[in-house]
Amino acid sequence: MKNKNSSKLFAVAVSTLACAGMAKASTDYGPAIWRSACSGHWNTTGNGHKFLVVHDMEGYYAYEVSSGGGLRSCSTTVSVHYAVNGKQDTSTDYAAGEVTQFVRESYYAWHARCWNGSSAGVEHEGFRSNPAWYTDAMYNSSSALYRHLADHYGIAKDRNHIVGHDAKSSSAWVSWANANLGINASCNTHDDPGPYWDWSRFMSLINPVTGTIVDNSSAGFSCSANWATASSSTDKYGLTIAITARKRLAIRPRGRRVSPRAVTPCTFGIRKDQIVRRPRPTRSRLQPGHRP
Ligand SMILES: [Zn+2]
Repeated sequence: MKNKNSSKLFAVAVSTLACAGMAKASTDYGPAIWRSACSGHWNTTGNGHKFLVVHDMEGYYAYEVSSGGGLRSCSTTVSVHYAVNGKQDTSTDYAAGEVTQFVRESYYAWHARCWNGSSAGVEHEGFRSNPAWYTDAMYNSSSALYRHLADHYGIAKDRNHIVGHDAKSSSAWVSWANANLGINASCNTHDDPGPYWDWSRFMSLINPVTGTIVDNSSAGFSCSANWATASSSTDKYGLTIAITARKRLAIRPRGRRVSPRAVTPCTFGIRKDQIVRRPRPTRSRLQPGHRP
């Protein structure tokens, strides 16, 4: 959700032609597509980018990134550095997780009132009252973008420095930000991205734990709470094995041995380093009639 900016008097009279433009790759962030905000709808100077703000659009990505659309309009006094698509709502919509850049990172977009001069902002497709657009693809793309922004500006990847537009509702953050960011932490009134934004997940993606991800979409695989889970198609990797009773393969998931006999035919993922090949048994339990 966007705020009007106090600098609007300085940047309104701009030709609508400046809003149009061919989509092209972002210079600042490789995965993004550059679709400029209305020319001049940003400040070129500020106090340094000290923290990052999470917004939701209360609307749809396709409209916001369209030529002359919401975040590119010359009729508003709103802009933001980036936007992320949540869902491909129609066959003509953009891909889920697509990222658009509107304002160069070195500039200051008009996304959060008095925080503008000290922050960078990203809009996310969707609505604070409905989690449907906060998809795996969005979290994956957005977390990578925030990681990039934090690294670029030297911003700590924590909840003091990566906040929602609704952070004013946290008295602890307001106190901290007033003391440490040199801003009036209470100058915003908006309440996005709202209760459905999964901060725990988002921050975990921004600060990934080194490890192995397995595909847990198969009903044949279960795991303990120590394993992170996801349902998107882009963040699954690892080894998938089709287990049949004929294969003499012992699986030791998290230290628990499962004999071939105990494994019903299924497909599941398992960490490569947890696969133990058993030596060929001298007496096969699978073929009771056989003697070596
Ligand atoms: Zn907002």
